[in-house]
Amino acid sequence: MTIHIGHWIGGASVPGSTDRTSPVHNPATGEITGLVNLASVQEVDHAVRSASKAATQWSRAPQSRRAAVLFSFRELLQGRSADLAAIVTAEHGKVLSDAAGEVARGLENVEFATSVPQLMKGGFSEQVSTGVDVFSIRQPLGVVAGVTPFNFPVMVPLWMCANAIACGNAFVLKPSEKDPSAALFLAQLWKDAGLPDGIFTVLQGDKVAVDALLAHPEIAALSFVGSTPIAKYIYETGTAAGKRIQALGGAKNHMIVLPDADVNMAADAAISAGYGAAGERCMAISVVVAVGDIADRLVDAVAERIPRLTIGNGAAASTDMGPLITGEHRDRVASYIEAGAVAGAKVVVDGRQADVPQEGFFLGATLLDSVSPEMSVYRDEIFGPVLSVVRCETFDEAIALINANQFANGAAIFTRDGGAARRFQTEVEVGMVGINVPIPVPVAYYSFGGWKASLFGDSHMYGPEGINFYTRGKVVTSRWPDPATSKIDLGFPQTR
Ligand code: NAD
Repeated sequence: MTIHIGHWIGGASVPGSTDRTSPVHNPATGEITGLVNLASVQEVDHAVRSASKAATQWSRAPQSRRAAVLFSFRELLQGRSADLAAIVTAEHGKVLSDAAGEVARGLENVEFATSVPQLMKGGFSEQVSTGVDVFSIRQPLGVVAGVTPFNFPVMVPLWMCANAIACGNAFVLKPSEKDPSAALFLAQLWKDAGLPDGIFTVLQGDKVAVDALLAHPEIAALSFVGSTPIAKYIYETGTAAGKRIQALGGAKNHMIVLPDADVNMAADAAISAGYGAAGERCMAISVVVAVGDIADRLVDAVAERIPRLTIGNGAAASTDMGPLITGEHRDRVASYIEAGAVAGAKVVVDGRQADVPQEGFFLGATLLDSVSPEMSVYRDEIFGPVLSVVRCETFDEAIALINANQFANGAAIFTRDGGAARRFQTEVEVGMVGINVPIPVPVAYYSFGGWKASLFGDSHMYGPEGINFYTRGKVVTSRWPDPATSKIDLGFPQTR
């Protein structure tokens, strides 16, 4: 029997009302495990109106009550994290330990949001003029939406919804249609945590649902994470409709390795950051920039580690790397290996020849050397287990290479030289920098976001910028006459 994966509206699961569906696979077996309903414009309208009805009361709930719901949600999420990780592995394919890591990084954002009374505090200036005080407050926006990618079906929704809900908004999530079930699991946990019905909604869908959210008059703001062309489209369409938009796009993250670096440490980092989650991470390293005479040693060290990776079903404890999300995406990634070879890159390890399970959407880890900036393997976001090595003579050349790239999410440097590292952090033009750390995803009390084609809008996600994004400021200027001079009978002796 085929499982139908529906929506979550008004605090309950709701089946789709149209016959538009999309298949959901277990990427490790290639099997279709469910059909997800794709919302119509009418379903989006119904869901947003139901969220809107609930939003006012939630926005006025005491901050302590909102924080209490966040604390309960945190406990439930922590308690069910293994179940949630298993759902992620079954629909996304990443290995269980990685899925558990995703839940843990998402949980951090819930923990951050439990401090909402502190986070929403404004400023106060007493007696700016005689009897006049000025203070600032932050208020929720109303109904806000999130549109999320397939590669982090738990963490990215939590980047958004924890802060949005803590700040007093109703949140409508449109998850990726490729792995839609984790969102429904989160919805049940929110309900169990005591969140009022209508404050967390899940609308399954595709472009039809996203466009309906972008056009809906009751959606005040939308957060997007996904590929660059769609991020640009969302930003342009949403802002034209008068909405507040933050849209995080794709990436091509570089890791510079200077000649003084520890080769083994750098090679281990390149393996985990290049091939972890089969390269399907927006912070994955896809280009290693080898500076000077370390290049040969580094390429050898990475190449010798690749055969040690166990590729298979992510649900097995021994697996290091799982499949890609779909067969179509696997074929697209594989086509880049060919394109690189034709353009003159040296294929050091060819993932197409790896010993991988025949069922499912697998591709082995690939290492390309002597890649140059005009090649498509260098220019495009591949989003798979293909690591390119670009050789540079100097540190300046390496920084210039990164700064010339259209993407600017993260970049890392491996070195023992503090001065070089410090110059790198100053001069590199990306939003997140790692020093001897290959995947510098900020902790939840900083904010996450890239520059250039990796971010449309001016607001990074989660952390302090997330609180700002989901609230708007108000400044109150108030004058109260001194009781001593007041003509109103205040009912108590005026002693001054
Ligand atoms: P995607 O852009 O294809 O889809 C993202 C979301 O947009 C999904 O919910 C999808 O249903 C929706 N969507 C797709 N096409 C649309 C259209 N034409 N109109 C409106 N909505 C549309 O991305 P993906 O393949 O799910 O995820 C991988 C991409 O996400 C990669 O490019 C990766 O770098 C990026 N990503 C970026 C970050 C970041 O923080 N910058 C984080 C994770 C993923």
